[in-house]
Amino acid sequence: MTATAITNEKIDAEVVLTCSVCRSDRIQKVDPDFNFCRCDSCGYVFDSPRPSFAQISAFYSQTGKYDTWLNEEHARDMLWKRRLKKLSQHSSKGRLLDIGAGYGQFLHLAQSFFSEVHGTEVSESAVALAKEKYGLSLRVGPIEDLDLPRQSFDTITLFHVLEHVPDPGMLVSRCHALLRAQGMLVIAVPNDVLAWTSKVKKIGNGLGLKSFQKFSPKLGISRAGASREIHLSHFTPTVLRRLLENSGLRIIEEALDPYYVSSGIRLFLDRTYYVLHRFLHATLKINRYDTIWMVARKP
Ligand SMILES: [Zn+2]
Repeated sequence: MTATAITNEKIDAEVVLTCSVCRSDRIQKVDPDFNFCRCDSCGYVFDSPRPSFAQISAFYSQTGKYDTWLNEEHARDMLWKRRLKKLSQHSSKGRLLDIGAGYGQFLHLAQSFFSEVHGTEVSESAVALAKEKYGLSLRVGPIEDLDLPRQSFDTITLFHVLEHVPDPGMLVSRCHALLRAQGMLVIAVPNDVLAWTSKVKKIGNGLGLKSFQKFSPKLGISRAGASREIHLSHFTPTVLRRLLENSGLRIIEEALDPYYVSSGIRLFLDRTYYVLHRFLHATLKINRYDTIWMVARKP
């Protein structure tokens, strides 16, 4: 069973009046048909109106939501190993907290790198699966509702989580409070405002191609809930950097997240595309890849 999409008519009218990154109220509508707004002060792009937390939680708790992931288990194992390798260039000891842990595949692999692993997840079906598959006890609910000890984690990971939460600024501040001094926050998010793939979608929409009609003609991004995911924020490297620095964290690495999940010839193509963009990023300092990877340390 596949997840049911949330149509525009069904989105609860939760309107955002203040920027989560810089707290400015200078908000402009970029594409009202797709509910996309932008902060005039810092450039942060987000959805407003947007689905409520109850809608999002119900969307990710649907039966069968993780079937696709389970079918891609080997390819996903390879993805998590790539991320673990990138992460361990900085540190891989102590207590790890993975926020938005899904059904725990990353935490399961990370157990041999860290002395303790902990995870949180809003989807009850994912939490049940993590227990059944790996014996992991994830905490259920949004991080702001959970009673976790302050300054107790050495590493916190947010793998494709920040774009899903209603207030990314608040989540990063919470991570700052949970980290020990010199603790590390690792973030991966889509780069969908600047990615070449979004430009292609924008052009496809402009040419009137039917399969591109679900993408905004202004940004080349699809509406929240129109596909397998609900994204409420659309970061650029500059906006993400500002968000982390505003919370008192110091950026120690900016790169690309090797997020691809594939096999065979597709894996070869995905890896080649990633390596090409990594080269572009290393030489010209521009990121037009599909994702952003950022690591910050608490001073
Ligand atoms: Zn702003």
